[in-house]
Amino acid sequence: ISEVEKFRIEYWALEDAKLQRMPKPKSHATRIALVTGAASGIGKAIAARLAADGACVVVADLDLARAQAAAAEIGSTDVAVGLAVDVSDAAAIEGLVRDAVLAFGGLDIIVNNAGVSLSKSLLDTTEEDWDLQHDIMAKGSFLISKATAPVLIEQGMGGDVIYIASKNSVVAGPNNIAYSATKADQAHQVRLLAVELGEHGIKVNGVNPDGVVRGSGIFASGWGANRARTYGIAEEELGRFYAQRTILKREVLPENVANAVSVLTGPDLSHTTGLHIPVDAGVAAAFLR
Ligand code: NAD
Repeated sequence: ISEVEKFRIEYWALEDAKLQRMPKPKSHATRIALVTGAASGIGKAIAARLAADGACVVVADLDLARAQAAAAEIGSTDVAVGLAVDVSDAAAIEGLVRDAVLAFGGLDIIVNNAGVSLSKSLLDTTEEDWDLQHDIMAKGSFLISKATAPVLIEQGMGGDVIYIASKNSVVAGPNNIAYSATKADQAHQVRLLAVELGEHGIKVNGVNPDGVVRGSGIFASGWGANRARTYGIAEEELGRFYAQRTILKREVLPENVANAVSVLTGPDLSHTTGLHIPVDAGVAAAFLR
């Protein structure tokens, strides 16, 4: 037997041993999820879906009362708890992670969902606007991933980190340079962390929604009016307008985004990491006249 062959045998024996040690995929029923920005819209739907799948969920949002109210809608305190956090504040995140682990005894699924959107053109975007968007989404999701990864790694049971990015992370639209740039940043965090955390069996994936008007606080607080103005339509028409420009001619709802998170973090996609799933009824796939 040659030296090269000996090396090959040893190498594959080591690789085999590594695979044996890799955490096996688990069902949601035994898992604990932390969802940021979960007091409303997409985040709330994700938290509700993961709870329906059997997970315990930490509903984290800026305002404690709104977070607790959303958690109470999802289930009893055995299933869902509401905690306050500002995701742009590292010290607040430290407290959140400590309280989340105290509440349910660990963490398995992290969903970076918190976000705001100013929807402004290049010329209207101020330095403060740029910093705010990046503080909450690019830095905020980085800080959440950084603070929770040690918990997942120490547990040694793998886990999932999900980024709710946007179709705007891959294609450009009008009047949202700061928002879209920070979404593109999040999309690359997915790939970078998939590489870095993969050796611990932790999968990192993204979801790219688009046009979720109903239930979205972002739409209700200015983005909707701004978009309606940009497209020259009434604000109430936005849901239908977005549906019409999709391939499927369907309006995207928060539940549709939550379904994607459920599948990505469930046992069936145990071998998928570094992926972005569009939940946009086809907007990013094709240009339709
Ligand atoms: P939403 O306003 O209903 O939800 C965002 C939540 O994040 C709110 O509850 C808000 O309080 C919270 N939040 C804001 N700043 C925070 C902070 N500093 N710390 C903690 N929480 C904070 O809006 P949504 O439409 O449900 O958006 C959720 C995510 O989905 C966002 O990241 C958004 O960019 C993304 N997204 C939405 C759409 C859409 O069509 N609605 C499309 C693509 C991507």
